[in-house]
Amino acid sequence: MTKIAIYPGSFDPVTMGHVDVLKRALKIFDKVIVVVGENPNKKYLFSVEERKAMVESATEGLNVEIDHFSGLLVDFTKKKNATAIIRGLRAVSDFDYEFQAALMNRKLDNTIETIFIMTRGMYCYLSSSVVKEVASLGGDLKDLVSMNVAEELKKKFKK
Ligand code: ADP
Repeated sequence: MTKIAIYPGSFDPVTMGHVDVLKRALKIFDKVIVVVGENPNKKYLFSVEERKAMVESATEGLNVEIDHFSGLLVDFTKKKNATAIIRGLRAVSDFDYEFQAALMNRKLDNTIETIFIMTRGMYCYLSSSVVKEVASLGGDLKDLVSMNVAEELKKKFKK
């Protein structure tokens, strides 16, 4: 049986930290579906199509599918025949929210497991928000995002 996991997030934009989690998830699962979220309560810098396109270029050559969703994550996971939800953990500050979300998702559907992948030391301070801040100030994005994402950020902040 093919083991499928979904990796949901905002990916606004996708960073090297996201890609690292994804590569490590692919050692456990045959296929990972990256799911770009559309949450009406969140303000994004990039549109869902832009975010998906950046994930696509940053994950070239990896066995991933890219999709988007809004709604209940467990329903989407089931629809995709996936059995697990991948989330990354950086600092303790991530834990509270992730713990709550994982427990709620298990209550909604106890056949789906949430798997946490611990960040790599070099990426522990890396987030999409930090990347946007550095980009807005004209800082160097080398090693933080792929070249294509760096270009897209430059374009956004030039406007
Ligand atoms: P969300 O809005 O759902 O938190 P993000 O795109 O910020 O979306 O993050 C998606 C997932 O990737 C989250 O589980 C987050 O903890 C994880 N993640 C983001 N950056 C890193 C990183 N540098 N190292 C490990 N995990 C990360």
